[in-house]
Amino acid sequence: MDAYPLRFHPVFKERIWGGSRLRSLGYQIPSDRTGEAWVISDHDHGPSPVADGPLAGRRIAEIMREYPHWFGDVAWERFPLLVKVIDAADDLSVQVHPDDAYARLRGDWGKTECWYVLDAEPGACIVYGHRARDREVLKQMMESGRWDDLLVRVNVRAGDFIFVPSGTLHALGRGLLVLEIQQSSDTTYRVYDYDRVDTGGRKRELHLADALAVTRCPSPPLRRPGRARSGREGAEIDHLLFCDAFSVEKWKVNGMTAFPQRDVFVLLSVLEGEGRLVYGDRSWALHRGDHLLLPRPLTSAKAAGRMTLLVSVPSVSTH
Ligand code: ZN
Repeated sequence: MDAYPLRFHPVFKERIWGGSRLRSLGYQIPSDRTGEAWVISDHDHGPSPVADGPLAGRRIAEIMREYPHWFGDVAWERFPLLVKVIDAADDLSVQVHPDDAYARLRGDWGKTECWYVLDAEPGACIVYGHRARDREVLKQMMESGRWDDLLVRVNVRAGDFIFVPSGTLHALGRGLLVLEIQQSSDTTYRVYDYDRVDTGGRKRELHLADALAVTRCPSPPLRRPGRARSGREGAEIDHLLFCDAFSVEKWKVNGMTAFPQRDVFVLLSVLEGEGRLVYGDRSWALHRGDHLLLPRPLTSAKAAGRMTLLVSVPSVSTH
């Protein structure tokens, strides 16, 4: 079968902090407490099925077995990335994720993530890092609940890009709509949940011991992406991130541009605008809000139109 761009039916997650804004992006959400749409996922906690074409209804793991060359000459242990759209109608809990080494002992992968801010209410902020100089102080401040002294809050705006490596204490604040690209992992250690209770009057579980073990001390500062920019015919490219797990580029397409052939598949998110993806004599429409997986044979396709795209590429080195 000829490779084609894979689109997916998102998997929705209701959250205590979720809202209804995903509806404004065209999603048919199950409730007004919908926090997350897993738009490209092969995680067992919510695999997104292919939406159309000959592989409709299938999950990525099956396609990887059947068409391994679509994913590159890499013996993937499992599909490495997960893409979500997150509606933070309220503050998310303050949390931290483990690295690969720590998570593997528990059967999951580590979780390095990054956020592209799609929309932000005025004054919206995130928690990013902490002020404890060492682990002992971190422990004391956590145990005595000195959250205002401990946590660093940073204002963010639409268009900001934030890298959250594993081991970083973090939280999305209310009023943020973000696109999250992360390692395919669902391991979260919650350290503070604002003493909220669910509809049954219960607080959500905290995981202080694990959080203390994996949180980096001292906290690495938030680094905004540099101005690494390159150009090619029909596009301007911002190199937002390169890390052990994946890299992220922002492509401003104006006219017709050719993507470089890659060794692996890539994920494409259309942030703004519309256009087409062209490969040989085939082409596919692209619209704002589309998230698709380009099998490796299609990574050298051309893009035509006026669009801003986020291109995420898994790193091969660590797997
Ligand atoms: Zn997180």
